[in-house]
Amino acid sequence: MLSLLPMSTSAETKQSLSGLKEADLTKLVKSLNWPAFKGKSIHSWIYTKWVSSFDEMSDLSIKERQFLNEHYKLSPLSLADKQTSTDKTIKYLWKLEDGTVVESVRMFLEEHESYSACISSQAGCAVGCPFCATGYIGFKKNLKANEIVDQILGIQRDTKERISNIVFMGQGEPLLNYDEVLKAIYLIKDSVSIGGRKITVSTSGIIPQIKKLAEEKLQITLAVSLHAPDQKTRELLVPISKKYRLDDLMESLHYYYEKTNRRITIEYILLDELNDQPEKATELSNLIKDLHCHINLIPYNMVDLDNNHSPLKRPSSEKIHKFKQILETKSKKKVTIRRERGEDIAAACGQLANKALN
Ligand code: SF4
Repeated sequence: MLSLLPMSTSAETKQSLSGLKEADLTKLVKSLNWPAFKGKSIHSWIYTKWVSSFDEMSDLSIKERQFLNEHYKLSPLSLADKQTSTDKTIKYLWKLEDGTVVESVRMFLEEHESYSACISSQAGCAVGCPFCATGYIGFKKNLKANEIVDQILGIQRDTKERISNIVFMGQGEPLLNYDEVLKAIYLIKDSVSIGGRKITVSTSGIIPQIKKLAEEKLQITLAVSLHAPDQKTRELLVPISKKYRLDDLMESLHYYYEKTNRRITIEYILLDELNDQPEKATELSNLIKDLHCHINLIPYNMVDLDNNHSPLKRPSSEKIHKFKQILETKSKKKVTIRRERGEDIAAACGQLANKALN
């Protein structure tokens, strides 16, 4: 439960104000016997003016700023490192209070002339997909809602440019950290002011939480990492599908659409000779033909950890286009090939592994 009064002044345990809602900040200032409007003001400094310190909150008195400096901190994250790609994608490495590190990526979307942030919901991941660098490092911890949201604010603080789209496609399986991710979504909507339609949550297929999320009737987009049109191949590529089976997953996606009326995004990584054959494209078309969805094909990106190259391979460009053409023709759905960003700095899909940045 939220503690409003300062409990400690030690740097490690100071409460962070980034991540508090306007109502909580108002409660906090009232508990300090400050005028209530100062809560709104602090909220605006944090979420719309992206200040990096209390000292920049110029409508607070010097005494008030000093008090905040002594008893609170602004952000739960500190920037550990940053890399910029030749295509201007930026990868951030953030340090949490306990020293754990997580990554986020900022991408420029030419088609909308805006920026999108790919954020992490967990440090590491327990799902262990063999094509994913995060899967290799294993599960470390769930992030708190403020640690999730502060990745967006941290990027805005650093670049001074607004983020318009959020994708939960960084490290972790968001639906295995359901409560904190849901809290973060509400904060992103209400405090960061990014509408639900601009938020995408990507899951490997955690069926009970897909159904739970459907009940929230949020306007967010659900993206599902399908990666195979049959149970056997999917078990190889998304190990959690041994528990959450393909048939049941498809049923949950129909349920999600019925409840939310939101078209689903199907993510399909293309791996040479594993799931890129023409018959797999036909099978996939049959599987999704009645689902309101569009399909994102993701040609595999090499994962290189400690110089151990993954044995998985990216299909040739010819195979990728053949797969797309069969899928499009047979399913009559929109199929896109995801444009890779930040591949040179290991910021592309599936490459986030907290590698030391130099
Ligand atoms: S692809 Fe997603 S679910 Fe699979 S291991 Fe990577 S982060 Fe986890």
